[in-house]
Amino acid sequence: YFYGLSEPVYPSPTMTGLGSWAESLTKAGDMVKNMTVEEKVSLTTGTGAPNGCSGSIPAITRLGFPGLCLSDAGNGLRATDFVSGWPSGIHVGASWNRNLTRQRAVNMGGEFRTKGVNVALGPVVGPVGRVVRGGRIWEGFAVDPYLCGALAYETVSGIQSTGVITSTKHFIGNEQETNRVPGGGVEAVSSNIDDKTMHELYLWPFQDAVLAGSGNIMCSYQRVNNSYGCSNSKTQNGLLKTELGFQGFVVSDWGAMHSGVATALAGMDMVMPSSDMWGDKLTSAVSNGSVSEARLDDMATRIIASWYQMKQDQDFPDPGVGMPSDLTKPHRIVDARDVSSKRILLDGAAEGHVLVKNINNALPLNKPRMLSLYGYSARNPEQWNYNSSGGVPAWTFGGESAYFGKDISVGFAGEEAESPSQIAPNGTIVSGGGSGAATPAHIRSPYDALNSRAYGDDTALFWDFYFSNPYVAAASDACIVLVNAFASEGYDRPGSLHDDYTDGLIKHVADSCNNTIVVFQNAGVRLVDQFVDHPNVTALIFAHLPGQESGEALVSLLYGDTNPSGKLPYTVAHNESDYDHLLGPDLPEGIFENFPQSNFTEGVYIDYRHFDARNITPRYEFGFGLSYTTFNYSNLQIEKNNTADTSRYPTGPVVVGGQADLWDIIATVTADIQNTGDVDGAEVAQLYVGIPDAPARQLRGFEKPFINVTQSTTVTFALNRRDLSVWDVVAQKWLLQSGSYSVYVGSSSRDLPLRGTLSL
Ligand code: BGC
Repeated sequence: YFYGLSEPVYPSPTMTGLGSWAESLTKAGDMVKNMTVEEKVSLTTGTGAPNGCSGSIPAITRLGFPGLCLSDAGNGLRATDFVSGWPSGIHVGASWNRNLTRQRAVNMGGEFRTKGVNVALGPVVGPVGRVVRGGRIWEGFAVDPYLCGALAYETVSGIQSTGVITSTKHFIGNEQETNRVPGGGVEAVSSNIDDKTMHELYLWPFQDAVLAGSGNIMCSYQRVNNSYGCSNSKTQNGLLKTELGFQGFVVSDWGAMHSGVATALAGMDMVMPSSDMWGDKLTSAVSNGSVSEARLDDMATRIIASWYQMKQDQDFPDPGVGMPSDLTKPHRIVDARDVSSKRILLDGAAEGHVLVKNINNALPLNKPRMLSLYGYSARNPEQWNYNSSGGVPAWTFGGESAYFGKDISVGFAGEEAESPSQIAPNGTIVSGGGSGAATPAHIRSPYDALNSRAYGDDTALFWDFYFSNPYVAAASDACIVLVNAFASEGYDRPGSLHDDYTDGLIKHVADSCNNTIVVFQNAGVRLVDQFVDHPNVTALIFAHLPGQESGEALVSLLYGDTNPSGKLPYTVAHNESDYDHLLGPDLPEGIFENFPQSNFTEGVYIDYRHFDARNITPRYEFGFGLSYTTFNYSNLQIEKNNTADTSRYPTGPVVVGGQADLWDIIATVTADIQNTGDVDGAEVAQLYVGIPDAPARQLRGFEKPFINVTQSTTVTFALNRRDLSVWDVVAQKWLLQSGSYSVYVGSSSRDLPLRGTLSL
């Protein structure tokens, strides 16, 4: 095959009721066989939503099917009232905490359920984060397939445990916003991904989501190997429905369908939000034989089977019951929040903060006599409401800005945006923008929380959130600067990975205040070389996108009520150029001006794999983060599982998630960790493996024990067949090579004190 071309894979596999799906298949088959062609078609084609849902499928009342409401997004329910503002994906990634991720998912899923949302449009596992300035990286968990996949597994399992179907998105290769959709005579960008890179990097987290039972997958806007994401038979019929044994249905991203018959044959099952290429046209295509009735039956069966699989036939709230179409009109209030969420929101917000610099005992604070607070991201914006129907949280629109002399108006969907901003200057941010934005009923900003803490401690608190050169009280015990790096769906982050306004503000404060603590709310990588070595910058925290408990979480960390435990889920470089061609999106050029090409020629070498391979020293490496205590690693044990089959290829049948024996445990690694400092705290222990003929080190395990002072604990990492394999493009299987595997355990991708070898 030629690079950048997509192999045809037909016909579209029908669902077979694998694993736990057998009963749902039977029930769905029974219902679908009583449907007319028109009724089956009605399941496949969205109708303009009669409510505030992002998309709707009408009821088939005579058969007892109430219809479906699909709504955004993976980081919580958006664009309605009485919901929580959960930490965004990147924040969850920075917590490296499987349990907390699961709890977040369960409580988030509960909110979708209460509101009558059948399908939650998330989680996001694509983009993975190939393009550092990518606009949507913050919606996903990590720029690493293993961490991203592990947290997607917890998220899908947790949301679906509440009976809500997850739409894991965007399948596949949706790595940049620039040219994500066609327009002005230019086709959408083509992500050209070779088979090996596809499996080892981009498909990996989708495989975890399918393994977890994701009932729905959303196909992506852009082209994959020059064939549109939603009409790509290789990715949908081949990778997803054959190789991964996916039993659910594929929905289009909103407006991502570009052909009628071809898309049906290529394995997409539902179009959103509506389309005149399906509906009546699909009915005609079935009656004239262009699309077989068997294919239509399979589309309908997959949709109804997913509904049964989540038990939505039993006591599920009416579709869209808590999603009024106009929130400004009087409406019945459906409060979806649960009191049990409060702790999860707060813990989640705290654990995704990453402390990367802390000198001169700057932190934790201890009843300071005087504090000064600066920066445009400290307080709540002037305006806050749930009307983010445009997709971008209201506070980023127009209005007065602290970014003097620059027009920073942000519009939805960068296709139309005029001058999108690097920062959100009008107040604190709790998420990025676009369809994954959060619209919580309540926000505690850093200023709110710090102000009440200061009151309790009798601390004098001064602030200036407006001027770029504020008056700085040098007598302050500490000066806290709260700033941000914004990103949104619809456009890739403009300019560079830092902005002069913010760097200038930080330096201005640091010039006068010898204990300057910088806090970045960041929707992706933010470079810091411009100020971080200033001798008065004593601490730096990447606060990411914490959700509604942003302020309380930050204050609890600043004062040491909570010991920081987050680690970076991406690499922070010294310079933009260190990322090389991965810095920004690929643009239309030359003979490909009208059909832009994005060649993923770096293979799996993105983020830390790229820095390791090129021997580039990052400012802060993947997996790095400080604590108020110290940990010591010892006693690495690597044990091969002697009963495991270590033949070259898996031989098991394809079950949901792929060949069954991919999950067999081949080896177990243990290590001891001791808390050697004087504060109790959690440590993210990381396991990296050097597989023969693969990147030097790839994350293949992580655990996050909480360890009290002087105590030790043993962490255990299980390595399965997939973890140790490479994709064999000839055999079209995961290959377990015989040879010597380097095993590393430590506290970041570059601090790996324990080293050993596994021989297979
Ligand atoms: C986004 C999806 C989202 C959908 C529905 C699209 O523009 O890419 O992630 O779920 O809109 O709002």
